[in-house]
Amino acid sequence: MSEFLQNPVTQFPKVSPPEQDQPEPGLDVKTDPVPDIGLDSYRGRERLVGRKALVTGGDSGIGAAVAIAYAREGADVAIAYLPAEEEDARRVVAAIEEAGRHAVALPGDLLDRSYRESVVDTAAERLGGLDILVNNAGKQLISESLEELTDEQVEQTFQINILSMFTLSRAALRHMRPGSAIVNTTSVQAYEPNPMILDYAATKAAINNFTKGLAQQVGERGIRVNAVAPGPVWTVLQVSDGQPKDKLPVFGHNTPLGRAGQPAEMAPAYVFLASAESSYVTGDTLNANGGTPTP
Ligand code: NAD
Ligand code: MG
Repeated sequence: MSEFLQNPVTQFPKVSPPEQDQPEPGLDVKTDPVPDIGLDSYRGRERLVGRKALVTGGDSGIGAAVAIAYAREGADVAIAYLPAEEEDARRVVAAIEEAGRHAVALPGDLLDRSYRESVVDTAAERLGGLDILVNNAGKQLISESLEELTDEQVEQTFQINILSMFTLSRAALRHMRPGSAIVNTTSVQAYEPNPMILDYAATKAAINNFTKGLAQQVGERGIRVNAVAPGPVWTVLQVSDGQPKDKLPVFGHNTPLGRAGQPAEMAPAYVFLASAESSYVTGDTLNANGGTPTP
């Protein structure tokens, strides 16, 4: 094969993770195999020079890969995450600083109203402005039946996955000037709900809709709003009861590319949607799911 070609089937390893468990939210550094957040591979090309970004759930998985990519593209980056995730967060902060950018760590719980209402302003204050918000924090817990699924869990999933997007995006708009961008993390679950994650899948459909609606509202202000819809991506979310344990070894094997994605493969989509390269793209969802057909 030409040295210039990379086969997407083998470009990243096909993982068959052993059955394992971590209590929610779990840590990347304790996940087997450790998710690839692009530490050794992501190369920046000055696509976000001088930008200032807040990435929620930026300690691990997809958010961590995005935070590292943004920093290597020239942005200063604040990450929001749960206090229990400090060990993962420290790894990302170090990578942002190694890229020569300013890193801001903002531990807190999006279920806590005062944190939710202040985290964007704190990020903007400590970064000296804000022009990218990545709403990426998410909760995914399986339950066999609707009878087993408690209202408490449904409310928490909705609060973390979608309701917080209203609060954080509203706060971000106060800081955003023309050229700014909001990027939301949705999922292939928005179109193909797995019956074991009814609450989660419903929030992801709502995120697509919210993205399209808000994009129309703020278009004239020169602010774009888009979403990325990952398919199965190997992260600790799956280990901390995001999947049944016996499904972990075959996670993502049923996609057309035959393997799960890695967080590092998601980051370029978030870079594109935050950068001026996507100037005429707004209200859209970029699917990065290994080939599963979407509407
Ligand atoms: P992850 O566990 O690494 O990231 C999720 C993050 O959400 C956590 O790191 C945590 O910081 C944050 N979070 C959870 N509860 C929170 C709370 N109460 N307060 C503040 N932050 C909280 O897993 P990931 O797979 O990288 O997930 C990132 C996003 O990607 C989520 O929105 C998830 O729904 C979405 N997604 C993941 C997949 C996948 O297969 N991994 C597929 C589609 C979409
Ligand atoms: Mg985490």
